[in-house]
Amino acid sequence: MRTDGVPAPDVRRRIAAELADDVPWTRVLNSICTEPHPLGVEMASSASHTNLGDVRIFRGTKRIERRVVQLLLDLVANPGGSGNLVSGGTEANLIAMLVARESARGKGRLTHRPEVVVSSTVHYSFTKIFGLLGLTPVVVPVDDALHLPAGEVARRITEHTVAVIATAGSSEFGVVDAVDEIGPAVSGRDVHLHVDAATGGFIIPFARELGHDLPQFDFSVDGVDSITIDPHKYGLAPVPAGAILFRGAQDAGQFAFDSFFVDTPAHHTLLGTRPGAAAVATFAVLEHLGRDGFRDITRTNFEVTGYLADGLRAAGHELLAEPQLNIVVVKMPGATRISQRLESDGWIVSTSKRFGETLRLVVNRHVTREVVDAFLPALERARREVAAGVEVVLR
Ligand SMILES: *Cc1c(COP(=O)(O)O)cnc(C)c1O
Repeated sequence: MRTDGVPAPDVRRRIAAELADDVPWTRVLNSICTEPHPLGVEMASSASHTNLGDVRIFRGTKRIERRVVQLLLDLVANPGGSGNLVSGGTEANLIAMLVARESARGKGRLTHRPEVVVSSTVHYSFTKIFGLLGLTPVVVPVDDALHLPAGEVARRITEHTVAVIATAGSSEFGVVDAVDEIGPAVSGRDVHLHVDAATGGFIIPFARELGHDLPQFDFSVDGVDSITIDPHKYGLAPVPAGAILFRGAQDAGQFAFDSFFVDTPAHHTLLGTRPGAAAVATFAVLEHLGRDGFRDITRTNFEVTGYLADGLRAAGHELLAEPQLNIVVVKMPGATRISQRLESDGWIVSTSKRFGETLRLVVNRHVTREVVDAFLPALERARREVAAGVEVVLR
């Protein structure tokens, strides 16, 4: 740190210059997060001083957090459940796995080698979590349509199993596992069924209302014990906003750490000091948009997804699979170099380490038809240049 301070205008100028170098949303096709709703941004800055780690001070903010949790529980068909706002999908998944492990321990059935049955496309946040919690993944390969097969899940449950994870919107493909088949297959086996709906939680309820053929993923499915949902993705809330939701009214309280101090409530999340701004912003966005607003946004996202898929097909490309949500994965020989060429041209897309020779393109609210119209020619240019051996220079 410098000895003498820098005047505020200089600080502002320097930060603005760095932020101006961030890639504009209109060139971003790899991100499940999007430009947050302006009302959320405004309300977050009005609450930037708040801390949900100390609810004796931030009583009003705490009430807003409870309201948000209730709105999210309503969204996943479980108004009588419980939950907490957290920093995102990773923390939500961590808390779900901790509750699963501790609940097995409480029932006297935690073995020396607790296992979790997962699909081969489960999100990599679980790799962090399993390491931290001493859990061993039992990996079930996905079927040809990239789904976790329910029958195989049931076969892999043993006395060591503490949890099964289904994914409602995989981050690689936007694939929605058949939670409605996995739930019944797991039900009665005394293992915790967690649904990672970080990507799909704010899409599937509205897409189903619009007539899309997607499986039910929420607490209306028997056997689902917990759900991760991420307002900071398709919920349009500013980062960081995630949530972990449980079936039972008391379940969210199972993970509790007492404070040092009298009359200070226990913490139910991993973070201690945590942003009330996230709760306030999420509340603002959910209240303001309502179900109708989210349904309209979802309709537009699917229209643009179809428009992008059609444009790719018209250019002679083949999709890896028909998109279930708003992620288009297209077969693309030379994908890595094409992606790098696009990046040097200011466009950000993803290529998979595991499913090579594909480009993954994510549609969220900032990806409009105009963005697609600008992207498709840029993609063809990048392909031609890579084919012609033009050198790719990444900054
Ligand atoms: C984004 C995502 C996560 C991780 O969430 P963070 O908010 O990045 O911590 C976990 N699972 C899925 C399916 C995701 O899309």
